[in-house]
Amino acid sequence: MDLKEYIRSIPDYPKKGILFRDITTLIKNEKAFAETINQIVEISKSFDFNKVAAIESRGFVFASAVSYVLKKPFIMLRKKNKLPADVHSIDFELEYGKATIEVHKDSIDEKEKILIIDDLIATGGTAEAAAKLVEMSKGIVSGFIFVINLFDLGGNDQLEKKYKIKSLISFPGH
Ligand code: AMP
Repeated sequence: MDLKEYIRSIPDYPKKGILFRDITTLIKNEKAFAETINQIVEISKSFDFNKVAAIESRGFVFASAVSYVLKKPFIMLRKKNKLPADVHSIDFELEYGKATIEVHKDSIDEKEKILIIDDLIATGGTAEAAAKLVEMSKGIVSGFIFVINLFDLGGNDQLEKKYKIKSLISFPGH
């Protein structure tokens, strides 16, 4: 099954010059969604980790299913002001704006190894912020798995210098 065929590409969304890679067309097909989760689970076997963490909100769609299959705890890295208890917080730049993500201070214990999952890596800013949150929590980033790598936006190459990264699908960014 070629998962690429299930990703819809929408030009100039959410603003001019961005080619948006839409995963709703992948997850609305139950076979493609299941294949995606199975592939992530398979790839995750080459990582050493205790917990799965994901970035709100499309990361949750994939990572919670992976966490369920693997019977590993699931940690939510959420947008600003969504988590109710004490948080670590980090500001970062997006391909199309600025953002903040947070994690509960009691989500990750010292030296716990965390596999981070997201739908897509573009510039890598979000992924880097996620890694910083894990490290602020004194956890260890085991690595990243992405469904989509927009390889010519450079995030993968930048992050690869420090962390192990795998992706299921690659697309040019534009
Ligand atoms: P970045 O921080 O630049 O690596 O951006 C990654 C995050 O922004 C991911 O969580 C994606 O959901 C979203 N994103 C960035 N660029 C795109 C794109 N071209 N199509 C779809 N989602 C994108």
